[in-house]
Amino acid sequence: MNLHAPQALFLIGLLLYIAIRSVYQKRTGSSEKTVNRSNGRDRILVLLVILGQIVLPLLYVFSAWLNFANYGPTPAVVCIGIVTWLIGLWVFWRAHADLGGNWSVNLELHSAHQLVTRGVYRLVRHPMYAAFLLLGIAQALLLPNWLAGAAALTAVVLMCLVRIPNEEAMMQEYFGQAYQEYILRTGSVLPRIGVQ
Ligand code: SAH
Repeated sequence: MNLHAPQALFLIGLLLYIAIRSVYQKRTGSSEKTVNRSNGRDRILVLLVILGQIVLPLLYVFSAWLNFANYGPTPAVVCIGIVTWLIGLWVFWRAHADLGGNWSVNLELHSAHQLVTRGVYRLVRHPMYAAFLLLGIAQALLLPNWLAGAAALTAVVLMCLVRIPNEEAMMQEYFGQAYQEYILRTGSVLPRIGVQ
């Protein structure tokens, strides 16, 4: 068991993260899917992210199985981790709020799908993945264990590298010129410098 203040804060953050996702999952409509680009590789990546964000951290906190990879925590690093987690959680919440019923775990579009370009989507095309990256960095700073700490960030980087090109190709095929113009005025996971 590795349950000290940083891990307790991490667990509270994890609960908030799961709560935000559950609220918006319930609100997502069940309208007919018109495009589905989800495949086996995409589902494996989603599972890897869940493993990295939830399963390995819980194993680290509540068992001794991963103790071989423990190292000593540094208070300054923990403070940066908390701030990074809070920013990540805020971006995650805003991305869900702005995307509303257009959100889905898998790569798919439904009959009433609308291209969202407002809120956090005004600056970046992938704020939710940006939030995952921030939460992954925070996890690495809050959990002093090489395996549980780095697991989410590794899985999310892998997911971004594979998923973003597929997702953008799907969006471009469906929304055409509108998505092309959206690409030109936004950044991928970081805002474009100089964008209004
Ligand atoms: N990549 C986005 C969304 C992740 S959820 C982000 O990181 O914030 C994945 C689903 O969101 C995709 O299957 C697609 O249906 C939908 N989506 C992605 N970008 C969108 C946008 N700008 N407007 C509407 N739906 C979008």
